[in-house]
Amino acid sequence: MTDIATATAGDLQASFDIVVIGAGIAGASLAAECAAHARVLLVEAEDTPGYHTTGRSAAYWEESYGGPGVVPLTAASGGFLESHGLLSPRAGLTIGRAQDRDRIEAFVDRFAPLGVDVRMIGRDEMTAHVPGLRPEWCHGAYEAKGADIDVAGLHQIYLAQARRSGSVLKVRARVAQASREGGDWRLEWPGGTVRAALVVNAAGAWADPVASLFGAAPLGITPLRRTIVQVRTDPLPPLQMPLTFGIDEDFYFKPQSGRLLISPHDEIPDTAHDVAPEELDVAIAIDRFEHAVDWRIAALERRWAGLRSFAPDRLPVYGFDPQVPGLFWFAGQGGFGIQTAPAAARLASQLLLGRPRDAMTEALDAGRYTPGRFGA
Ligand SMILES: Cc1cc2nc3c(=O)[nH]c(=O)nc-3n(C[C@H](O)[C@H](O)[C@H](O)COP(=O)(O)OP(=O)(O)OC[C@H]3O[C@@H](n4cnc5c(N)ncnc54)[C@H](O)[C@@H]3O)c2cc1C
Repeated sequence: MTDIATATAGDLQASFDIVVIGAGIAGASLAAECAAHARVLLVEAEDTPGYHTTGRSAAYWEESYGGPGVVPLTAASGGFLESHGLLSPRAGLTIGRAQDRDRIEAFVDRFAPLGVDVRMIGRDEMTAHVPGLRPEWCHGAYEAKGADIDVAGLHQIYLAQARRSGSVLKVRARVAQASREGGDWRLEWPGGTVRAALVVNAAGAWADPVASLFGAAPLGITPLRRTIVQVRTDPLPPLQMPLTFGIDEDFYFKPQSGRLLISPHDEIPDTAHDVAPEELDVAIAIDRFEHAVDWRIAALERRWAGLRSFAPDRLPVYGFDPQVPGLFWFAGQGGFGIQTAPAAARLASQLLLGRPRDAMTEALDAGRYTPGRFGA
């Protein structure tokens, strides 16, 4: 790719086969998958790719996360992440109280038949994993195959792959206008313009507003704010402690670099912008954590928030817009956009370029993810 810092409008060719809007994990991975077959420009509004949601995740891979419709994408991505050395084992544990026993059992029954490695465990095994767990937490669903993901490493692999194949990355370029010119799209941002036959909307929280630049109907992709707080605890978290979820989906916590990340599992509808955490959500995160374990919080070190963007059915959206020619959606990655990135990008590149499926994608049902599923 053209060096990020020095790329100017003058450096750019006048036209590309594909322009990908957004250089988070979605745009970077799809650009990389397409780059060997097409001339690709990756356009990013910010100074740095990954500044928004991609740089703010909890960096976790869990087979059940996102529900049954996401399981195949996560499973199909595991091999790529593992073979590139991007996963570090960390089990997942969903915890409940006495009254939650049926729900923990239902959780296991929902995912085990899909091939997810999950089993019920009792209080003794739970406290062996999470010391100091308060006495009311007595039923757990344990997923041994969970892992931390090296998100920056994955993002860099894709950016480097795209660059090696001749793609161009243009940062500080917020696409603001689009018009039809012959059979192509003409895109404009302050100080620059480019033509392309195909455009990919990988704009994350901005997916609906970006689609509207092309005259496409919004799909109802909603940015939901999620907060993470980094704390120093007494005791320090065991290095191998599972990522621990509450069955009510109202908290999770996991160790990272000797600290603990805590989230209130919030999903607060927001607008697409550079989102920041609210004090109330930080306080809720800490309160819920203190109801889960008896540890002391010695210092609140960092806090951040990011936008997880969901389509109305909470499945991702991959495919051509049903009405607008040459506009391809790669959006709605919700809370699973990192862990599904390899298979999602491979599948989307095959749909975009009309290429055949391969071992990674052959079992995936692309019809589940088509933008056409929302009807006219
Ligand atoms: C707190 C939190 C925890 C999470 N934990 C996990 C996890 O453990 N595992 C997991 O798999 N996922 C997790 N996620 C979800 C994951 O981070 C997202 O699904 C993923 O990062 C989405 O990537 P993206 O590329 O679609 O969006 P983004 O990274 O937001 O990228 C979109 C890009 O488009 C650019 N853009 C927008 N409009 C324009 C325009 N007009 N012109 C040019 N560029 C534009 C933006 O600047 C932005 O950089 C988490 C998310 C959050 C917030």
